[in-house]
Amino acid sequence: MDQVKQVIIAGAGIGGLTAALALAQGGRQVVVCEQATQLGEVGAGLQISPNASKVLRALGLQGRLQALAFEPQYASIRDYRSGEYYLRAPLGKAAEFRYRAPYWHLHRADLHAVLAEACQSAGVSIRLNSPVMSYQQEADKVVLQLANGETLTGDVLIGADGIRSKIREHLLGPEQPTFMGQVAWRGVIPVDDLAVAIKPEACVWAGPGKHLVTYYVSGGKQVNFVAVEEKAVWRSESWREEGDISHLRHAFADWHPQVTGLLDAAKSSFIWSLNARAELSKWHDNRVGLLGDACHPMLPFMAQGAAMAIEDAYVLAKQLGEHDVPTALMNYEAIRKPRTTKIQQMSAANAGLYHMHGGVLGKAKLKAMQLATAVAPKIIQSKLDFVYGHDVTS
Ligand SMILES: Cc1cc2nc3c(=O)[nH]c(=O)nc-3n(C[C@H](O)[C@H](O)[C@H](O)COP(=O)(O)OP(=O)(O)OC[C@H]3O[C@@H](n4cnc5c(N)ncnc54)[C@H](O)[C@@H]3O)c2cc1C
Repeated sequence: MDQVKQVIIAGAGIGGLTAALALAQGGRQVVVCEQATQLGEVGAGLQISPNASKVLRALGLQGRLQALAFEPQYASIRDYRSGEYYLRAPLGKAAEFRYRAPYWHLHRADLHAVLAEACQSAGVSIRLNSPVMSYQQEADKVVLQLANGETLTGDVLIGADGIRSKIREHLLGPEQPTFMGQVAWRGVIPVDDLAVAIKPEACVWAGPGKHLVTYYVSGGKQVNFVAVEEKAVWRSESWREEGDISHLRHAFADWHPQVTGLLDAAKSSFIWSLNARAELSKWHDNRVGLLGDACHPMLPFMAQGAAMAIEDAYVLAKQLGEHDVPTALMNYEAIRKPRTTKIQQMSAANAGLYHMHGGVLGKAKLKAMQLATAVAPKIIQSKLDFVYGHDVTS
């Protein structure tokens, strides 16, 4: 077998660093090229469901992450005005028992810092200020070109460079991601600044054309919010910019007092345009493969984008440990694509549910979910089992 020795990864996001760690632990030499001049992540939360926490545990990070995490007691969907529960599914110990791994809420910067530290201890070389541009394949190696003119040679190149991936562009040609007609406001608020009590839940407040998610991060010291609003167009050139907090408060002004009280305490927020891509025709070519948002960006309405990147990373590292590079990349895509495509579709479908699309009909769908939770909980459970019960480490 053509033994993989040198791996180059484009992008030091959560997907790229998880892949780097898994590969370095398997004895590979790993170089990660990151365009940013400093390592870090945005000030926002991340839900890490059991399917992803299983991977992080297999990589030896459970102790460090558990200390930084918050474990929500329920996953809930509530009415934007009345606060009525349409769904209240147990998480916490119940989820840990069912899926044999914890459900964590983490600050993104905490997860990123733990991954970066573990990578450095495992001997991964992380090169900052190193934007990647393109690559060339030779018979038994791949040569990566950086924007500064330098080149790096490896046995395999992994494009973990996010939704606007240069590696994807080189592999499949230029194509902008599709704006999904929604923007997301994200922020974190210290608990001490809050005048309203927020429940220890992963809570979606669902309302016409909008929804808002709340959950605790930083071991319960801060509350993270994600507010999503439908917008016909996104005029800004940037896909992330500082938001006007008064606009955000105005957009949710007639919502439940827990929502308005929370937004009253918010001091700042960033806005993201929400983009996605249709299923790609392929994720790999000979010695080059894609991972995470580079190949399957999705709406965040299942909180699974980073979780899928983490699962990808583990499967890819395992395949590269067992097969020659082209076979490993082919197997990796065959294993991962059906699952990530299904979760992309499930995430998109949740937009209609959370935003009560169809007016009265939209509300009726939430009521039907409420009824199903009471009389046939297995229907709801089977959807969650498909996502959270998956174990790429087994
Ligand atoms: C509002 C919102 C909420 C979300 N909530 C959740 C959640 O709760 N749970 C969850 O699992 N997912 C969530 N997601 C999705 C998640 O954030 C992404 O799916 C995840 O970050 C993808 O990780 P990645 O490593 O593939 O890409 P990225 O995080 O985008 O990382 C890509 C890295 O590559 C670098 N890079 C880019 N271009 C280049 C280049 N040319 N050269 C070198 N480096 C480059 C970037 O600087 C970055 O460091 C959410 C997303 C949004 C928008």
